[in-house]
Order: sequence, then C-alpha cells, then structure tokens
Amino acid sequence: MADAPVADDGSGPGFDELGLADDLVAAVVKLGYEEPTPIQREAIPVLLQGRDLMGQAATGTGKTAAFALPIVHGLVPAARRTKSPTALVLVPTRELAIQVSEAVHRYGRAVDARVVPVYGGQPIFRQLRALDSGVDVVVATPGRAVDHLGRGSLSLAEIRTVVLDEADEMLDMGFAEDIEEILKGTPGERQTVLFSATMPPRIEAIARTHLTDPVRIELGRSTTSDGDSPAVTQTAYLVRRAHKATALGRILDVEAPTAAIVFCRTRAEVDTLTETLNGRGYRAEALHGGFGQEHRDRVMNRLRSGAADLIVATDVAARGLDIDQLTHVVNYDVPSAPETYVHRIGRVGRAGREGVAITLAEPREHRMLKTIERVTGQKVQVRQVPTVDELRAHQLGGTREALDEVLGGDRDHLDRVRVVVESLSDEHDLMEIALAAVTLVHELRVAGAETDDTEIPVVDLKDERPGKGDRGGKARPGGPKGKPGRNTHTGADMTRLYVSAGRKARVGPGDLVGAIAGETSLSGRDIGSIDVQEMFSLVEVPSGKVDEVIEALGRTTLRGRKVHARREKYTRT
Ligand code: AMP
Repeated sequence: MADAPVADDGSGPGFDELGLADDLVAAVVKLGYEEPTPIQREAIPVLLQGRDLMGQAATGTGKTAAFALPIVHGLVPAARRTKSPTALVLVPTRELAIQVSEAVHRYGRAVDARVVPVYGGQPIFRQLRALDSGVDVVVATPGRAVDHLGRGSLSLAEIRTVVLDEADEMLDMGFAEDIEEILKGTPGERQTVLFSATMPPRIEAIARTHLTDPVRIELGRSTTSDGDSPAVTQTAYLVRRAHKATALGRILDVEAPTAAIVFCRTRAEVDTLTETLNGRGYRAEALHGGFGQEHRDRVMNRLRSGAADLIVATDVAARGLDIDQLTHVVNYDVPSAPETYVHRIGRVGRAGREGVAITLAEPREHRMLKTIERVTGQKVQVRQVPTVDELRAHQLGGTREALDEVLGGDRDHLDRVRVVVESLSDEHDLMEIALAAVTLVHELRVAGAETDDTEIPVVDLKDERPGKGDRGGKARPGGPKGKPGRNTHTGADMTRLYVSAGRKARVGPGDLVGAIAGETSLSGRDIGSIDVQEMFSLVEVPSGKVDEVIEALGRTTLRGRKVHARREKYTRT
C-alpha cells in the first residue's frame, strides 16, 4: 500500500494542477474555492488515475469534493450516457445523502451530471421515477439501495466507481451486510473509495476484502511539539448553519476583541459575512484573493489603527499577514485540516500574550474537533452560544466594573457631579437616582452594539444521532428580533478630532465608537482611525459630520466622565 502524506504547510498545487477538466476547475473557482484542501490535493490525482483509495477524513475536510470531482470528471459526454448510473456513493444518513447529492449536482452542473439521492423515508415511487429517467450518480443509504436492488429499479451493471462515505458510521448503524450485498452486485473491476473518520479493524477488514491496492491518505499527525504550543484559549461553539451569523455576533459582543481575524472557507462566504457583520454595527473588512495589494494594505492599516476591529478572510488571503495586536482568531467553520487550524491559531498568543481561538462548529463537524484536539494535543472547550440574557448579564457586569473603577478613583472627579445628585435628591430617592445614572451609563456603554435577539437553539449532540434531521433543538430564551443597523464605508474626507479623555480615564476605542455611534447619525464603520493616548484620544470622523460629533460628545460621558471634543487637524485617509 502506498502512503501519501498530506502537505502540512497549507500550500501546494492549485485546482488547475490536479488534472481535472477545465470546466470543473472553473466550477470550483466559481464556487469561491481558492485552493484545494489537503485531502483534495492528495485524493484527486490518485482517483483520476483510477486507483482505489482509503482516506481518513471527517466531515469538514472537503472530502465530498475530493471524491465527487473525479467522479464528475469521469462522466462521458451527455449524449453518450445510458440510463444506468456509473457511480454509486453510499452514505449513512438521509441528510448526508441529500448533502452529497447537492454537492455532486453543484460540481457537475457544467457537464450536466444527473444525480439522485436515494434514502429511506421518502416515498419510493419518486425515487423509482428519478432512477428510471436516467442517472449518472446515485447517492444512497445502504438500506434503501438494497430495497431498490430487490425491486430491480437500481442497476449496478455499469458502476465504475463506488464510494463508501463515512464508512465507520455506516458500520455503527448496522449496514455491514447491506454494504457487502451492494458491493457484490457491482462489477469486479470497479474503483472503490472509502472515507472514514476513524479506522477501526472492521474498516480495515472491509478495505482488505473490497479495495485493491488502495492508496492511503491520512491527515498528517501533529506538526507542533508541546513546547511551542501557543498560549491560546480554545473554545468551540456548536451551532447550526442557519444561526451562525447571529451566533458569531453574540460571541463577538461577549468577547469584545480588540482585533480579530475571522476565517471563512470561500470568497463568497467572506463577502457575505463581512456585509452581515457591518450591517450589525461591527467594523469588519473583507480580505480574499479577489482583492489587490492596495486593498490589502488599506485593510491592514485600518486594523492596526483601530478603524476596523475585524478582518474576515480566506486562508490564502491571510497568508503572510502579521498583525501584532491580534487578540482573537475565529474559525467561522471548522478548518478542513488540523494543520490549517494550527496555522490559524498560531497568529494569536504570541510573545507571551494571551490569545483566544474561537471555532463555530456545526453539529456534523464535531468529530473534526476531536481530530484537532488529538493533533494539537490541546483541549478545545465546547460551549453553547451565549443567550441574549447571558449577553445582557455580561454587559451589565462590564458596566458594574466600570462604575466600580470610578468609585475607587479620583474623589475630585466624583465631587464635580455631587451637585447634580444633591439637587436631584430633593425630589427623588437616592436609589432611584443611582438606578437612573446606571441606566444612562449602561445604555451609552452598549450603544452601537445592535444585538440580534434571534433565538439560537441549544445543540445537543445526543440529538444528533445519525438519521435525525437538522431541525429540533431546544429553544433558549430570547427577546424580540433586533433590527440591524445600516453601515456603508463611504471613503469620505475625514477630520481628526481631539477628545479630552484617554487611557488614564480607561477610555478605549470601543467607548469612543459606542459614544459616537450611539449619539450621532454615524455608524461604527463611518468612524476612521482611533488613537487612544494617556490623557486624550484622537478620532477621525467624516468631515461633514464634525459639528454633529463635537456637539454629541459634549453632551455625553465616556466611562462616567464628561469630555469635550474639538478639531485636531485636517487629514485624509
Ligand atoms: P465536506 O468535508 O465535504 O463536508 O466539505 C465541507 C465544506 O467545505 C463544504 O461546505 C464545501 O462546500 C466546502 N469546501 C470543499 N472544498 C473546499 C475548498 N477547496 N475550498 C473551500 N471550501 C471548500
């Protein structure tokens, strides 16, 4: 058996160098895939040669495209196809059958690949009709495939490739006999591909019996030794796809990163997520292979100067980025290889600083987290996304802390407002006055952070038994739906303002953004660079809005302190 180690540096041949037909390369580029994942890089050339393959890969590694692209590549021109399928993919669950057939459909659109998912639970007559009208690729659960074989509605006579996807799951679900029966019905000279997240002896036995001299592909073992493990807190949040954007917003609200990079798989995902985040009041910049160097420099400068807090990027685009002040790395999906994960999180926790790595994992990707733990030798703590109530409690905690600091600070400072409290106490109870003051401070602190109160269901892996749908889940409490703010980057002339509070007053960029976005017509994204010094801060705002901002800052407070603002000097970004 040949061994094919997977490259561990994340670089290597592009999609156009794997031997795939041009229209397939064009199809994946159009899907926004910038480069093959490690499993694709290794598997595709091997499969195109017609070799059998045994791949240890979990969901999230890109394994579907790894076997689907060569299958589609191997289809003869549409005019010469018969009614019978030439490829059969066996999967453990109906969800996977649907997902894989959708993927084959996406990748095979350019060559009009005909694909039918076949699974239990769907009226059989519909599948009979689909199979009868002619099909190239059948994606089936073993039980239903055997049903169709019994009825004579599924012909295996022309099958050239069989894929056993998530083979360990199929065995766990008791499909061993069905798989045997199906394989026996296929031509002996077929190509057989087996993917499995784990390789227990039963899988090895199937491989020995049904695969011929397979190439083995395993995701490489750890490339990091314990000694250079970064000081990074690693957390994963289990969340269904539909709730990911809301979940990310909520997590960012709790974490309040100074500077974060959010990794996505595709360009399209980068664009969509950046737009969503900006729409919700975050200051995010997109970075992917579609942008030139000038954009890249501008994005980096905005992050360094504090004018942006988030970069949303693909791995390719983020290569070579060196951002000292990065506090958080967020994986919007579980990375396709543990090595990618290690590279990504290596960007934080440098030079003894603390870093945070956050991963959003869909339930089906949770196995990949285990692989990551094994490879990195570090625990990834799995948590539920904070509820709106938890977020609010967290924000209140922050306000309490801020007030506590003021109370423990400079007395003169407090004495300046004593007259206000005293005069109010003629008419109101002191507790009431305190409540009003805290409310005011709190609203200012959380201003600008539009919380999307959509309920995010708890993901319980016990409910994720194979065969269960992506529905269900217990709802967590939440309030009414929040409305997203509007933000666009205008590129307008900017004017720098001097604001009379800085680090000494514990003012941070977030306070300035919160105060300005909360009190004026500007949103976070309209604000330019922010430079917080010991005794003062400099903030760039659009020139047309200077008076409005000066006036607004004059009537608000930052960290409980009255401030004033004035024009510093004219600058242009
Ligand atoms: P899979 O492991 O096959 O379930 O794929 C996981 C996800 O990765 C799917 O949403 C694919 O669309 C996506 N994907 C597959 N290959 C790539 C690639 N080369 N670049 C970016 N995303 C990919």
